[in-house]
Amino acid sequence: MSLLKSPVTALHGVGAVRAEGYRKIGVCVAGDLLWHFPRSYENRGDVKMLAEAVVGEKQAFVLTIATKPTVARVKRGFSILKFRAFDATGTCEITYFNQDFLKNSFLVGEEYRFYGKLEQKGGRFGMSSPAHEPMNAKQPLAPLFPIYPSAEGLTQKQIKSGVHEVLSAAESELCDYLPDDIRLKNRLPALLPALRGIHMPESYEELVAAKRRLVYDELFLFALALRLSAKRERKTGAPVFLENDLSAFLALLPYRLTGAQSRAVEEILSDMAKDTPMNRILVGDVGCGKTVCAAAALYVAVKNGYQAALMVPTEILARQHAADLEPLLEKLGIRVTLLLGALTEKQKRLAREAIAARETDVVIGTQALIGEGVEFSSLGLVVIDEQHRFGVNQRAWLAEKGKLVHTLVMSATPIPRTLALTAYGGLDISKIDEIPPGRQKVDTFFVGESYRERLEAFIRKQVAEGGSVYIVCPAVEEADEEEGDLLLSEIGESLFAEKKTPLKSAVAYTKELSERHPDLRISFVHGKMKSADKDKVMRAFSEGEIDVLVSTTVIEVGVNVPNACLMIVENADRFGLSQLHQLRGRVGRGTRKSYCVLVSDTEGENAVKRLKTMCATNDGYEIAETDLKLRGPGDFLRPMANMGIRQSGGTEFRIADLCEDGDMLLRAFADAEEFLAAQSLAEYPALSEKVQGMLAENESRIN
Ligand code: ADP
Ligand code: MG
Repeated sequence: MSLLKSPVTALHGVGAVRAEGYRKIGVCVAGDLLWHFPRSYENRGDVKMLAEAVVGEKQAFVLTIATKPTVARVKRGFSILKFRAFDATGTCEITYFNQDFLKNSFLVGEEYRFYGKLEQKGGRFGMSSPAHEPMNAKQPLAPLFPIYPSAEGLTQKQIKSGVHEVLSAAESELCDYLPDDIRLKNRLPALLPALRGIHMPESYEELVAAKRRLVYDELFLFALALRLSAKRERKTGAPVFLENDLSAFLALLPYRLTGAQSRAVEEILSDMAKDTPMNRILVGDVGCGKTVCAAAALYVAVKNGYQAALMVPTEILARQHAADLEPLLEKLGIRVTLLLGALTEKQKRLAREAIAARETDVVIGTQALIGEGVEFSSLGLVVIDEQHRFGVNQRAWLAEKGKLVHTLVMSATPIPRTLALTAYGGLDISKIDEIPPGRQKVDTFFVGESYRERLEAFIRKQVAEGGSVYIVCPAVEEADEEEGDLLLSEIGESLFAEKKTPLKSAVAYTKELSERHPDLRISFVHGKMKSADKDKVMRAFSEGEIDVLVSTTVIEVGVNVPNACLMIVENADRFGLSQLHQLRGRVGRGTRKSYCVLVSDTEGENAVKRLKTMCATNDGYEIAETDLKLRGPGDFLRPMANMGIRQSGGTEFRIADLCEDGDMLLRAFADAEEFLAAQSLAEYPALSEKVQGMLAENESRIN
């Protein structure tokens, strides 16, 4: 009987209580313990002499016991065990509280390795409750002492003895699932030595090699699992759009598609000409022109006799898309309907009836699109814009309603390549890596409060020259919570610690500014306003009837007002990098020379780095890479957990770290592709079993 596959209670001394502890740390069968890696290692091999040690730091010492331990009862239920020990440079008093049982553990004249914080009082050394191991003449003590993640009812010692037991069993039972050629190509140790090396490293080098192997394994298995789950979900029976001549559509555009746009459109059309549902993401920096690619897809779907839906996260964006696309599509004989939560019941009913009766072709809408009772008569394509803003429910809707429908998602959140692989692993990717011609770089400045006066003069100058100005504030009203559901996911926790200056609020600042500049037409918009009011303000702004729009981040996503040439972000330190990049993307959309001014007096190190990064580059991908370094992958992955993707990504990795192991990730993904192209997983039963395990784990996590 295999020990590794037996319940954890098969391990020596493990009963119900410990088994419960093990369950909490995710160990069910004994073999799981092999993959329960240490959280850290104490560097006990770096032995110091008492006299040269740094007081207050955890260090290792090899000391000889000088006096027999004595126990003193200080008060009821409280005792101190004490003895002295020495090395060539000094003597140290060692104490343990309430551990009388240690009395017989220390023999005078014997050597022990202690690990703890050295204290010094009046020229005398002391250590309280240090870890201790008897020195052993036959076998040197391990230099690195693993510390495991643990749970109630489970001590380090118990975990360690469990690990030793499974490692012994592994010697005969374990099979290295990684194909040899892949292992050798990447110069990785075999599985058993790697597991030994991670649990009981005999040197730092051994630990490093072990870790490389286990990181690789995790990423390679992950890559295989992603590819397989993507394949498994591909059904056939989606509508086939063979009629895809775009010439009438292209003839109506006031510009020519860029090369990158044409490529993306071609990929999209070729997907939609197959009977497996398209499952594609179109990524590209803000302003690269994704909307027109979506429009081409909508056009083709309708041309082939189907309806199409365009879903967006905000009403402002829905109305804007409708305003942009309707004139274009209508010239092509396509009927467009807007469906928003903010419509009256009657309007909604009429829209739903038109959709069900096939009296409309393209539906543009927000969450209301997925509301009760929306039944398409012949839906063939769903496009989701700014998809990272959507929540989990929308995904469920897609899974249910969109089974055999082509799906195109679009995202302007540039994410680092390594994260893209994990986050979009199940999707085909089209990337627009080219900005339409004639666009200029948005000059960006980071200024403090002392610039306020000059800044307002600059606003006046822009307005006088006919431009319009955005001012983004983090709050709606005085002493308000920050606006929107975006900030929490966007801003790393570290930012909250840096919070200092009072937050500018959109409403109050509008009032202030209007008093100082009565001749300017200043208005505000924020998420708590009725959507008809929001809409009115946005329309007035885009038609040039408002000079300065003070707003919260509601305007962050997708809004397109080509006349806007100045973006001011107040309390800029409160925003994450990708959010700042999105905000800046609201200007520089037309022909006007455009500027972005980030206002903040922050001294927070990270915040300053973020703001300086914004000044240094306009490249969304570069910004995303910096963001990743500053914030770690969690903040990227959290919003992405909402994407229609069957894996939330790196936060769940045991040992791989997407920040550190980016190169490894790329290699593992490439190896996995190559492997699947050349061989059948079925011929590698051990590997296949691991991959199935990973798939099952993922599925149970998501459902
Ligand atoms: P995003 O990718 O951020 O959604 P949009 O689709 O809103 O970008 O496009 C930004 C602006 O660029 C729009 O005003 C659009 O009309 C314009 N645009 C798109 N493609 C081109 C092109 N090939 N040439 C010139 N302008 C373009
Ligand atoms: Mg867009």
